Amino acid sequence: MDFYQPTSGSMQDVSHSMDMRSLHPSEPSDKQEEACGVFGIYAPAEDVAKLTYFGLYALQHRGQESAGIATFDGTTIHLHKEMGLVSQVFNESILQQMPGRMAVGHTRYSTTGSSRVVNAQPAVVETRLGSFALAHNGNLVNTKALRDELLQRQCNFNTTTDSEAIAFAIAEAVNDGEDWLDGAITACKRCHGAFSLVVGTPAGLMGVRDPNGIRPLVIGTLGNNPHRYVLASETCGLDIIGAEYLRDVEPGELVWITEAGIASYHWAQEPQRKLCIFEMIYFARPDSLMHNESLYTYRLRLGRQLAKESLVAADMVMGVPDSGIPAAIGFSQASGIPYAEGLIKNRYVGRTFIQPTQMMRESGIKMKLNPLRDVLAGKRVIIVDDSIVRGTTSRKLVKTLREAGATEVHMRISSPPVTHPCFYGIDTDNQDQLIAATKSVEEIGKQIEVDSLAYLSWEGMLLATGEDPNSFCSACFTGDYPVAVPEPLKRSKLMLEKSSV
Ligand code: SF4
Repeated sequence: MDFYQPTSGSMQDVSHSMDMRSLHPSEPSDKQEEACGVFGIYAPAEDVAKLTYFGLYALQHRGQESAGIATFDGTTIHLHKEMGLVSQVFNESILQQMPGRMAVGHTRYSTTGSSRVVNAQPAVVETRLGSFALAHNGNLVNTKALRDELLQRQCNFNTTTDSEAIAFAIAEAVNDGEDWLDGAITACKRCHGAFSLVVGTPAGLMGVRDPNGIRPLVIGTLGNNPHRYVLASETCGLDIIGAEYLRDVEPGELVWITEAGIASYHWAQEPQRKLCIFEMIYFARPDSLMHNESLYTYRLRLGRQLAKESLVAADMVMGVPDSGIPAAIGFSQASGIPYAEGLIKNRYVGRTFIQPTQMMRESGIKMKLNPLRDVLAGKRVIIVDDSIVRGTTSRKLVKTLREAGATEVHMRISSPPVTHPCFYGIDTDNQDQLIAATKSVEEIGKQIEVDSLAYLSWEGMLLATGEDPNSFCSACFTGDYPVAVPEPLKRSKLMLEKSSV
C-alpha cells in the first residue's frame, strides 16, 4: 500500500503555528490548540472544490498549519495540500483544476505527527478498489499498536500521523476482500480514541464518528436536493455555503452517501455521548450549533452562572477577545455590572509570519490586543476569559489593563481549572506545564497579579449545557478519561501522577 503524494508545487516555510491567543504573534499560545477541521461534499454538477474551499475557510479556526482538498471526478482523485492557511494554499486557478462530483477537505493543527507538508491531509491511499481520501479530526490513543500491526503487513508509512494509520487500516481491510463499507467498519473497530472522519471513495462519501463522539461532525443538505450532502466539523462549515443543517453524525455511526442518498450504519457495540466540553466552551465557533442552539447562547449561560458563583463589586465587565466575550456579556447580564470593551483585537496580525523587532518586544507594543485607555482608566474591572492553561498570557493581560489605568482587575474564568492533559486531539501541554495542576487558585491569582481570581465550578459548567452531564468528556478538568489511555502514553503527559500509573 502506498500513500499518494501531492503533485502540486510547494509553498514552503509558512508552517509556524499561528498563535491566536498570545499578545504577540510570535509567542507560544497560552491556550489549548484545536486539532483539525474536516469537510466533505457529495454534489454532482456543483463546483465541489470551491464549495470545499469555503467550508474549510469557515473551519479555519480549528487548524492553521496546513490545508488540503481532494476531489473525485469518477476516475481520478485531484489532490492539493500545502502548509499554510486555506487562503494561502488555494487560489482560483488551483481550484479550477480540481473537477469532481464529491470532495474531501481538511485543515490541520498537528497533534500527532510534526508540522510538515507530508503530514497534511487528506491522506490518499491506493487499494484494489481504487484510491480513497481520508480527513481526520481527533487523536487515537492506540496509534503505536495500530502502526506496529500495519507495519507487519508491509504498509509503507510516509507520515507520522495517526490519520495515515486509520487510512492504511481501511486499505488493508479492502485489500483483504471487503467492500468500502465493511472495510471502513473493520478499520474503525481497530481504532481507539477520538476520530471524526470524512472519507471519499470511488463509490461514495463516508462520515464516521468514534463510539464516544468526542469530536463533532454534522450533516447538511444542499439546496433541498436529496442527493447533495455536506459533512463538516461544525455547522458554520455548512452555513457558509448555504447548506441546511440536517443532524449530527451520531457517536459510533457511519453515514454512507451515494447516488442512492444517505444510509446509516451503527457500527459500535456500546456507543455513548462524550462530546468534548471544550468544543462548547472555547474551540468551536460561537455561531456553530450544538444541541440545537448556538454556542454563543451556551457561553452566555456560562457567564451568567459564573456571575452567580463569584460576583465581586466592579465598575465594568469585559471579555478577552474574542472567545471570552459571550461569557462576559452573560456575566454582565446576570450581575447588572455594565459590559464594555477594554481590549481591541488587531484582527489581521495573525496573518503575518514576520517576527516583531526586538525593540517592539522590549517596548511592550501590543500587537494583538490593544487596551482602550479612556474606557479602562479609573475603573474596577472584571475581565472574563474562557480558560487559563499556562497563565503567561493572563499575566500580561492584567499588566496591560493596569498600565491603561484600571484600579482593580478581577479575573473570572468560564470553565474550571485545567488540571489534566488531553489525549483526544487537543494539543495540551504535559501536566506539569498546566498551571492549575500545580498551583491553587489563590496561588495562580498571585502569579498573574490579579486582585481576585475565580473559576466556574465543574457542576456549573455542565449545568449550563442543559444536557445530561454524563454526555460530555471533561477529563482535562477531572482526569476521568472516557477512553482508556494506554500506560506509556499516559506516562508521557501525566507528569505529576507517575506513581499512580
Ligand atoms: S480531555 Fe478536555 S480537551 Fe480533551 S476531549 Fe476531553 S474535554 Fe476535550
